[in-house]
Amino acid sequence: MEKNTRTIIFIGDGMGGLPIDGLDSQTTVEAADTPAMDRIAREGACGLMHPISPGRPAGSDTSHMAILGYDPQKYYRGRGPFEAKGVGIDVRPGDVAFRCNFATVEGRTVVDRRAGRIDKGTDRLAEAIRENVGKIEDVQVIFEPSVEHRAAMVLRGEGLSHEVTEIDPHDPGVDYLESRPLEDAKDRAGAQKTARVLNEFVRRVHEVLEDHPVNEERRSAGKPPANIVLPRGAGTAVDLESLKDRYGLDAAMIVEVDLVRGLGKYLDMDVIRVEGATGGLNTDEMAIAKAVDEALDDHDLVLANIKAPDLGGHDGDCEKKIKAIEKVDRALGYLLDNVDWDRTTIMVTADHATPCAVMDHSGHPVPIAFFGHGTCPDDVERYGERPCAKGIMGHLRGMQIMDVLTNMMGRAEKFGA
Ligand code: ZN
Ligand code: ZN
Repeated sequence: MEKNTRTIIFIGDGMGGLPIDGLDSQTTVEAADTPAMDRIAREGACGLMHPISPGRPAGSDTSHMAILGYDPQKYYRGRGPFEAKGVGIDVRPGDVAFRCNFATVEGRTVVDRRAGRIDKGTDRLAEAIRENVGKIEDVQVIFEPSVEHRAAMVLRGEGLSHEVTEIDPHDPGVDYLESRPLEDAKDRAGAQKTARVLNEFVRRVHEVLEDHPVNEERRSAGKPPANIVLPRGAGTAVDLESLKDRYGLDAAMIVEVDLVRGLGKYLDMDVIRVEGATGGLNTDEMAIAKAVDEALDDHDLVLANIKAPDLGGHDGDCEKKIKAIEKVDRALGYLLDNVDWDRTTIMVTADHATPCAVMDHSGHPVPIAFFGHGTCPDDVERYGERPCAKGIMGHLRGMQIMDVLTNMMGRAEKFGA
């Protein structure tokens, strides 16, 4: 009996880029030493991918949504709900969720947006927030700390909207903002109520945290107090069909950032945590690769994401990005050596380009390569933006990927007679 086919979606976050003068006009992927990706391209089927549509810079959240076949243009209502799910809050349809920073203010002026990258005591601060700011008007406030200065917050109640401006000014040295309804808010009354509750939340949190023992300790140790919480990235939770219901596939996700992890939880994927997966350049890529291999034992689809290439891109540091891409390649090398490719298809791509010269996400297409079961090889010899552009898969959009993969897996359903 033929065993079930499986598929791996392997994403180097922000791995796509643009030609760089100092690298003989190669991109960072092209300049990096990537024997595994090159073999995947040489023996597999290549192309370019536009995560959303040509020229549209994608966020990690919208890109992963599209790649998994959930149209972000239809379902995306801000990143807040994914962040909140990622830190373990049970987000429900209608909730408005925010990402938050613990920060330091003097009066209204933000002195440090990350409260000295506070790494201890935020659980106690969160406890105080829960005890004292659990409800505003008829709205329930749910607050959970994440790593370092990060946290997530959910407002649950009738008639709320995500269409509000942010509290976080994003720059130090300026006053934090009053939230207001967005000018083009569709649900004006909902946005007004949400902004009012949000402003009250921030005011009361500041009162609760100002003289909290954790902050007294920080002040006497010469550290900036975490005396406020700055919400941003408002989003309304929508109901998304689980990946199992949509495709009939048992799916797992092995990723390093809460944002994408939250999407996985949203889609009811098994979100697997890996020891040593730090989300930084020091991440243990081999542990990630082993976890992917193990997850294939009892899943039909495994999505993995290594975050580090994106960081090099944001920093404008090509060397750092190249090192990160080479880490992604080592993980792929492990999979090439250990996975049964007669029954497994892998897709290797980036969720968006983060060119070093741009220092942010851009709307350029990213290389894509399919290898293993069900793939039709082409003449492409190595992985990269230019080589893959000559491949048999042509230009794909994120939303087309699941069709391509389920077809390669031999699990696509015929359209028509
Ligand atoms: Zn990304
Ligand atoms: Zn990024």
